[in-house]
Amino acid sequence: MNNIIEIKNISYKYPNGPDALKNISFSIGKGEKIALVGPNGAGKSTLLLMLNGMIKPDLGEIHFSGSPVRYDRNNLRELRRRVGFVFQNPDSQIIAPTVFQDVAFGPVNLGLSKDEIKSVVGDALSAVGLKGFERRPPHQLSGGEKKRVAMAGILAMSPDVLVFDEPTSALDPAGSEDIMELLDEMHIDGRTIIISTHDVELAYPWADRVILIQEGEILAEGTSGEVFYNKSLVKSAKLSMPVLLDLYDGLVERGMPESDNLPKSILDFIHLLYANSSDIRNTENMDCGIIYLVDADRINPGEIKSLISSLEINGIGAMGSKAKMMADIEKIELDYTYGVIDKCLLKSINRKNSMIITTAGMIKRVYDRVLEFNQESMRDITIRNCTEINTKL
Ligand code: ADP
Repeated sequence: MNNIIEIKNISYKYPNGPDALKNISFSIGKGEKIALVGPNGAGKSTLLLMLNGMIKPDLGEIHFSGSPVRYDRNNLRELRRRVGFVFQNPDSQIIAPTVFQDVAFGPVNLGLSKDEIKSVVGDALSAVGLKGFERRPPHQLSGGEKKRVAMAGILAMSPDVLVFDEPTSALDPAGSEDIMELLDEMHIDGRTIIISTHDVELAYPWADRVILIQEGEILAEGTSGEVFYNKSLVKSAKLSMPVLLDLYDGLVERGMPESDNLPKSILDFIHLLYANSSDIRNTENMDCGIIYLVDADRINPGEIKSLISSLEINGIGAMGSKAKMMADIEKIELDYTYGVIDKCLLKSINRKNSMIITTAGMIKRVYDRVLEFNQESMRDITIRNCTEINTKL
């Protein structure tokens, strides 16, 4: 894998402050989803601020796209365009009196024409589900909406890498789920995403790779399973094991054979219980519910509503900001907005039908996940593409 960022032997001490980072080295591959995890004060924010040159290390070097970061004005400007940084508190980032002006700030500074600015700001606001918010004053928005404005401001610069310091702090559970799903969308669009968090429940299912940091040093790095399924490591980082791994560990201690794949979702966990309990297997009905798939780019909202009323559906989920925004405008009540595919798979194994509303870019993801689950669980869950059903109606 190509590395987009390399951190080489970095140390940093705040003036009149502690040694915040002590000889840290690691690499970030293009297209990775990385979580920097550690307790408060571990040095996560300091490290992230170095990724786009906001803090210069005392010792060591950072390489971006193969070249060492230089701290002159022109190089820093280019680095900050390519590595977007979303602060923990969106109030630190939002500066303009309207949402449009705020998101336009970067493109204006890049010298884009009026039409180009209108177009990139429009695209960025759509991507974060805030179309129609252009004239709103940011200070009147909710915490989650402000965070989206800050994200749109970064997206308007077309960065390759997105850095989020504690992306869900101060958000309620639904707001947190929405932001995590947005991060996934940005990743599907081909970007490298790095977050910091002390929330192991958030990092474990999301990250490809976890870097555990404590007192300015890297304690461990590896896949999220390798790092979090290690009791002593998690304990020495003053964190706790994710609940699913704790439950899994409890069952393994009581004699359940270890599985090749650690459970990352409730669906994985239930599958593990099925696989290991002959009682459950023997009484199990292998019939499955259907997942109806709607491409919101190809079916209009009226048709989606008529599908919902004509089909026997027990849960509706939307994936992606465009689909969610459409559901919101059209008052289609959603049961799931995060982890949608797994939640619909769960419905299916409970012999209930569900619907996933999404847009073109995500459809392959639905098919891939359902196929993978069918192979693992030896089931035959069917996806029915509603574009085809609709032409037959
Ligand atoms: P984290 O993001 O993991 O909570 P930080 O990077 O914010 O950790 O902080 C690392 C260490 O540096 C902590 O001991 C913190 O108190 C200290 N620190 C952070 N910012 C400053 C600052 N501006 N001045 C002095 N010390 C700071």
